[in-house]
Parts: sequence; structure tokens; C-alpha cells
Amino acid sequence: MAESFDVLVIGAGAAGLMCAITAGRRDRRVLVVEHANKPGKKILMSGGGRCNFTNTGTAPENFLSANPHYCKSALARYTPADFIAMVERHGIGYHEKELGQLFCDQSSRQIVRMLLDECEAAGVRVEIGCGVEDVRQDEGGGFALRTSHGSFTAASLVVASGGLSIPSMGASGFGYRLAQQFGHAVLPTRAGLVPLTLSGTHLERLDGLSGVSLPVEASCNGASFRNAMLVTHRGLSGPSILQVSSYWQPGDALRLDLLPALDAEAFLREQRQLRPDAELKTVLSERLPRRFAQRLCEAWQPNRPMRRFNEPELRDIAAQLHHWPITASGTEGYRTAEVTLGGVDTRELSSATMESRRVPGLYFIGEVVDVTGWLGGYNFQWAWASGHAAGVVA
Ligand SMILES: Cc1cc2nc3c(=O)[nH]c(=O)nc-3n(C[C@H](O)[C@H](O)[C@H](O)COP(=O)(O)OP(=O)(O)OC[C@H]3O[C@@H](n4cnc5c(N)ncnc54)[C@H](O)[C@@H]3O)c2cc1C
Repeated sequence: MAESFDVLVIGAGAAGLMCAITAGRRDRRVLVVEHANKPGKKILMSGGGRCNFTNTGTAPENFLSANPHYCKSALARYTPADFIAMVERHGIGYHEKELGQLFCDQSSRQIVRMLLDECEAAGVRVEIGCGVEDVRQDEGGGFALRTSHGSFTAASLVVASGGLSIPSMGASGFGYRLAQQFGHAVLPTRAGLVPLTLSGTHLERLDGLSGVSLPVEASCNGASFRNAMLVTHRGLSGPSILQVSSYWQPGDALRLDLLPALDAEAFLREQRQLRPDAELKTVLSERLPRRFAQRLCEAWQPNRPMRRFNEPELRDIAAQLHHWPITASGTEGYRTAEVTLGGVDTRELSSATMESRRVPGLYFIGEVVDVTGWLGGYNFQWAWASGHAAGVVA
């Protein structure tokens, strides 16, 4: 005999727990099923263990989607201030790191604890280690779930099963398959907020520089991010690269400005005048990490004193510093990606409630939907906001 609820939520991640809390507070009988051995695993590992739980500057422009207007309504109705109020109510200390990014002072565990305490207060049941075996729509319109922990029915079914990133943490393509089972289109998925890989001479030139970090401006397909870049064994990472990776696809041009805050040509000309005997690599080391500057010079031309560079040569070097010629060969993929781009097509969902336009009572929230935020707390804000939007009606 199936146990009956008002709302079934698949996935005890950020979006699923927020939805469950919101629906539970309305006295809906809510069950959350989670196949992993604990809830909120991605929250736990997020923000280097301190969970960058929101961004105070969250705006629709910080999200990628085939339908850029879709996220507006939910984001406007559950704001960073709403989530911060909950964090403060639970006495969790937090601080702004940079650019509106809020992190826990202590641990991401506090955010998971807060969500579970809220679930308990709202009478929500969370079933852990519970694999979903079958999902069906009843003739009467409700939903029936067969799981490893028994069968459950409810009038509303909320899919909050996340994307494909970090499969070792419980990520699965489950939500996409379920969407397709109910006739929904799923837009092609790919890894986002992910390190880029290099090959051939591009990689060889960076040999031995792994661990070197510098501020750059990374641009691709009209998006630009000014932040740190980190050289890795396989290619490039760091916030600026992770951000731009969401806009990059194989074959796309990538532009890296290695001296975004400087007019390199004017700087080089001035240095030639002030220190004619100083070598180029010494001059560049003042503005770039020393080993990096040295390697750049080796790749370009024999290192020589500044006085021996003529105008066109200085102009050429400056141009390369502002537009470093680099071609990415790929990304590190879902294994290390923070998010999955693409997903359930929003054109068949209500932007006010996240409900399917095809199947009444069916909802898709969080990362499984084709809405992906920038790095910096935006993805959690989308999870809270979309979870809340569904939770007030489901
Ligand atoms: C390393 C890392 C660090 C991150 N740091 C940040 C950060 O600091 N700030 C930020 O904003 N974003 C961050 N993100 C992104 C953020 O974690 C996600 O965008 C967010 O967790 C998405 O929430 P969600 O609830 O949609 O999915 P998830 O949090 O992934 O939750 C989905 C849940 O569904 C469960 N599930 C999947 N399939 C099934 C099934 N068949 N049956 C039952 N349960 C199932 C999963 O086990 C999981 O618990 C980070 C991501 C990673 C990987």
C-alpha cells in the first residue's frame, strides 16, 4: 500500500530542501527522497567548505539560459535578503569575500543543518538512501513513486535532482530522463564553471608554471570576467577562467588580457626611457609573476635590454599582453565542473511557479532546469529562489 503525501520532492539538495520547507510551512505533507547517503552533499563541498550561499548583487544578467527572462520572476520573489534573514535567524556567522559573495564564517555544514532544522520544524520528512525506481502519473492526475523504501503518492511531484556535475557526489541524469518521460524537451547539457584544458604548444609553454596565479580579464562570446587565473597541470583555472568557461565551446576564440588594469604599450615605452638597460623580462616581472614573465619572453623573442626594442616591437608585445593568443582544447568535464549548463527547457515551464505546462502538478527546480548562474553564490540563489517559487504553490 502506497503512503500518501501532498508533495513529493526528488533530491535533498539546495533547491529540493528549500521547496520542501516552503511547502511544509503551508501545512502540506511533504516527503523528500534522496538517493545519496546524506542530504545536501554539494552544499557541504561548496565554497571550499564554507558555502558561498548567495550573492547580494544577484540579477537576471548573472545567469545563462536559452530563455534569459525565465529566471526573473522567481529571483524577484525570493531575494538574497530573504535567505540572509534565514541564515541570521539561525545565528550563522557570515562574511562577504568579494563582489557580493557571502560565505559562512565557519562551515557549510551549518547551512545543511539550518535547512534540515527548518524541514523538521515544517514537518517535512526526508528519506535518505532512497533510490527512485519508477515514476508514474495516476489516472486521477497525481503521481506515484516506487522507491527502494516503498511506494509513495502525491498530487505534486517536484524534480530537484540537480545536474551532471561531480557524479561521485550523487549527480545523475535522472531529472533529464524524467522530463523526457513526461514529454519535456531537454536542451543539450555541458560542463560549466570548469577548468579549461590546453594541448600542444599552448600547454608546453606553460610547463612548470602550474600553481602560478595572476589577475587577468578573460573574454569569450561577448562575456568578460576580470579576476584571478591559475595555471594548472592541464591548462587554466581560477575564477576568471571558470566564469568564462560557461560561455566557451570547442572552437570558440578565447581572449586573455594579462594586464587588464594597465596600458601595456605606454608602460613599456616609459620603462624603455626610464631603464634602458633593464631586460624585458625584468620589466614585465614588475607587473606579472616572475616565472610567468620569464616564460612569456622566452616564447616571444630572445630577451634583451629595453633600449633594443623598437616602436613596432613594443607595440606588438603590448598587443600580445592584452590579447594573449591561446586556444583551449577542451574542459575538464563534469568530474570537476561546478555546474551543468542546459537542461530542462524552460519554455514549457511556468516562470512564476516552475510548474510544467504539459503535466499539471509536475515541477522542475534548481540546476536540472536550463538556468545556470555565474560563479559567486548565484547558483545557490537560483536553487533557493526556484525552490521557493514551487514551494508556495506545490
Ligand atoms: C565543488 C562545487 C562547489 C560549488 N560551490 C558553490 C558555491 O559556493 N556557491 C554556489 O552558489 N554554487 C556552488 N556550486 C553549485 C551548486 O552546488 C549547485 O548549483 C546547487 O547545488 C544546485 O542545487 P540543486 O538542488 O538543483 O542540485 P543538487 O544540490 O545537486 O541536489 C540534487 C540532489 O538530488 C539527488 N538526486 C539525484 N538523482 C536522484 C535520484 N534519482 N533520486 C533521489 N535523489 C537524487 C542528488 O544526490 C542531490 O542530493 C558548487 C558546485 C560544486 C560541484
